[in-house]
Amino acid sequence: MTTLDQLEFDNRFARLGDTFSTAVAPQPIEQPRLVVASPAAMALLDLDPAESARAEFVALCAGQQLWSSAEPRAMVYSGHQFGMYNPQLGDGRGLLLGEVVNAAGEHWDLHLKGAGYTPYSRMGDGRAVLRSSIREFLASEHLAALGIPTTRALCVVASDTPVWRERAETAATLLRLSPSHLRFGHFEFFYYTRQHDALRQLAEHALDCHFAECRAQEQPFAAMFGQVVERTAELIALWQAYGFCHGVMNTDNMSLLGLTFDYGPYAFLDDFDARHVCNHSDSGGRYSFENQVPIAHWNLSALGQALTPLVAVDELREALGRFLPRYQAAWLQRMRLRLGLRTAEDGDEALVQRLLALMQMGGVDYPLFFRRLGDAPAAEALRVLRTDFVDLAGFDAWGADLLARLAREGSDDQAARCARMHAVNPRYVLRNYLAQQAIEAAERGDYSLVRELHAVLARPFAEQPGMERYAERPPEWGKHLEISCSS
Ligand code: AMP
Ligand code: MG
Repeated sequence: MTTLDQLEFDNRFARLGDTFSTAVAPQPIEQPRLVVASPAAMALLDLDPAESARAEFVALCAGQQLWSSAEPRAMVYSGHQFGMYNPQLGDGRGLLLGEVVNAAGEHWDLHLKGAGYTPYSRMGDGRAVLRSSIREFLASEHLAALGIPTTRALCVVASDTPVWRERAETAATLLRLSPSHLRFGHFEFFYYTRQHDALRQLAEHALDCHFAECRAQEQPFAAMFGQVVERTAELIALWQAYGFCHGVMNTDNMSLLGLTFDYGPYAFLDDFDARHVCNHSDSGGRYSFENQVPIAHWNLSALGQALTPLVAVDELREALGRFLPRYQAAWLQRMRLRLGLRTAEDGDEALVQRLLALMQMGGVDYPLFFRRLGDAPAAEALRVLRTDFVDLAGFDAWGADLLARLAREGSDDQAARCARMHAVNPRYVLRNYLAQQAIEAAERGDYSLVRELHAVLARPFAEQPGMERYAERPPEWGKHLEISCSS
């Protein structure tokens, strides 16, 4: 275990110099106090969880104090927002403080979100509000616990610093951890500004730091792009399997490492709806739940375009062509597990698609369906679940096919089946209304709900006696919350 002052830094990105980022000091927030810290994220830095109780911890995470080896920098990037190229992005309200090396030799970027003005703040105030910081914190740590690749969140610090969004709010900071903060948009910036030497330097940096195994390939940059395609396909497969809508899949919010990145108006589906749009500002539904798959592919082509000075177009096309098959296989495999299937059969995809079509008619809570399917022997569970479906005859036919399918692969006893299914089907999911209740309490200065919700969601597969209220279907008001992009 390490204490705060013992963290070791190795700031590889900062060493790339001023072409890639600008040195900026954080502007502290006023009267900082710790809202919540993640012991699991602290463990990534070998930090003793008790360190979060120190005043120094809050001062460091509020931008009041800096580690002596930190080198805060604002990174420059650009990107496609809602399909339109925006040449002027970059860290407008966050700073890469430095890279910590843990005992295992892993590098973790410390990124302080909400750290004040930078050269990329444009019209913004450089701040993050408490509400959106809590949302990012809860989601980062929950997705990680679900096994979905994501950036991490060390803590949220609240303050009295006033900020104005649609209403008066207060600023907060979030300390984000990630093996890398490289976005597709980093490469787009150097491509569209025709700085191809810098583009190559950045790609070399990415290879050295994050895709070292690609060095052994004949075409290391092409191999790296292939890896990005595959990791992204696998990430989106998990989003789709677990009903996660990102909401703002702009290319500047796409991680080169295939991590869930930059949480905004995201949502987990409550009632299944493939056409769900979680971002209130996305009137065209570009980033609807079902569009996440083609949009990820589109975003990868935007990255491929930016790499054309380094990789032959044929190679880029070939790698892009691997996206859909890789996605499809990963998604189907996860859906099989969620249904309790242990083997693969040709008809499995049709079986899953029929289930989703039945759910699409309305009334079926997506996370609860899978959890409850494992609660009792299949035939019995199906009898309980059928009452939620609109097309009862259709569901009965589907259920009969599932039972026949299960019989073909041979039965295991219910205890084993339940353990297997419950290990992939969470009991607790970060529903928007749960986050909302915790946020409203936090805005009144009561952080207990955020802390409790975080603790519950950090163990999403475990039964947690006394916490049943977090596993229920949302109330009617909770299904139609409008979450805006403004954060
Ligand atoms: P986001 O919507 O958070 O992905 O941000 C898109 C771009 O706007 C990025 O370049 C951000 O750094 C910038 N940005 C968002 N909010 C602010 C803010 N309050 N102040 C300055 N820049 C911001
Ligand atoms: Mg962003």
